[in-house]
Amino acid sequence: MKICSLSILGLIFSASAFAQQPSLENIAASELPSLLAIYKDIHSHPELSGHEEQTSALVAKELRAAGCEVTENFGKYDKPNLKCYGVIGVMKNGDGPTVLVRTDMDALPVHEETGLPYASNVTTKNDEGRDVPVMHACGHDAHMSAFIGTARALQRLKDQWSGTIIFVGQPAEEAIGGAHALLRGGLYNRFGKPAFALGFHDKADLEIGHIGVTEGYTYANVDSVNITVHGIGGHGAYPHKTKDPIVLSAEIINALQTIASREDNPLDPIVVTVGSIHGGTKHNIIPDEVKMQLTVRTYKSDVRERVLGAIDRIAKGCAIAAGIPADRAPTVDVLKDEFVPATYNNPDLTKRLVAVWKKVLGPQNVDMVDPTMGGEDFSEYSLPDHSIPAVDFHIGAVDPAKIAEFKKAGKELPSLHSSKFAPVPEPTIRVGIVGMTSAVLELMKK
Ligand SMILES: [Zn+2]
Ligand SMILES: [Zn+2]
Repeated sequence: MKICSLSILGLIFSASAFAQQPSLENIAASELPSLLAIYKDIHSHPELSGHEEQTSALVAKELRAAGCEVTENFGKYDKPNLKCYGVIGVMKNGDGPTVLVRTDMDALPVHEETGLPYASNVTTKNDEGRDVPVMHACGHDAHMSAFIGTARALQRLKDQWSGTIIFVGQPAEEAIGGAHALLRGGLYNRFGKPAFALGFHDKADLEIGHIGVTEGYTYANVDSVNITVHGIGGHGAYPHKTKDPIVLSAEIINALQTIASREDNPLDPIVVTVGSIHGGTKHNIIPDEVKMQLTVRTYKSDVRERVLGAIDRIAKGCAIAAGIPADRAPTVDVLKDEFVPATYNNPDLTKRLVAVWKKVLGPQNVDMVDPTMGGEDFSEYSLPDHSIPAVDFHIGAVDPAKIAEFKKAGKELPSLHSSKFAPVPEPTIRVGIVGMTSAVLELMKK
């Protein structure tokens, strides 16, 4: 009889313990109203890359309130006068692995045309001193809200995990250099090298409620290349007395297309785009030079080396064919500071997290998505040799009815960076919290 009443007591106790232990979904739901207010606040006060002063202060305040030990203004840019607004929040909970969770914080020089009540009216001066509008057109505001929600959820679920979480509020993702600045500032020396790194990004063509992920390469190596084609200028009426760099540039541009079509293994995706070309001042003057700017996208390091080598060889070879003297060969500069390494989602880690997400969101809400040739400096956290297993996953941000409507009309949905891009905030933030928190719990479970 006694035993029986004890077990009833036990049952009552465990039932009440269960009642005090809300599910991750419930925690996310309970945090959403306040996170939505934070989202709208950040959305209507966007700041450009490298200028995230107010935004980083807000992220720091919220991480502190969620129980993190916070370091502000962390990181070191190559430009010594540029202050770095990195925020690092450390949440310690006994022994166990260290896991890095990253959000980006910067906005873009875009004039918002969403018509939302909380749309941005902000204008500011850019680094060149020009007045520009500012908008969170890439959804980093949603990332920050989900990131804060994740910190709150993990604080509330501390009995389910152990170890150290490093929450990283990263500046200057759009301008590239933010992640690099944090590592250059000693992120891993000071706060410890993580066993895993996790990031997320909203996706402008994935429906709300879904997580999307790619196994292996998900974003490309990004190289910026400047080519100066030198010629010998003169009168437009006497071409025989000149070496025309405009005709030569046209040859080079066409020849560059053969890198993808003839030199590259078709199974290794690459892109060589000439995005800018400037030369000459007037109809009847053959200029001395033409300047071109290229973006080059690859996945594998050896492919990258080959493509960059081919660009150099083709530019110089075309100049030889055009009779340009050796001392006026084209100058080909690969801009080291602007390089972004490819983002590689560790296959084992991806599989492990996909299994978790299928459990928490339902298998129908987890999509394997194609990689893109876009760039993302989240890649920096896994180090050049990908020795820190990392996953950067997508969060659905679009109402399925809107996807259907645009598809029916044969129109493209507003993409990331569009003045009309507007994620549906609640479900985007909610799935961000559930996806990120469940991933961390999987990696740090007791
Ligand atoms: Zn972006
Ligand atoms: Zn972005």
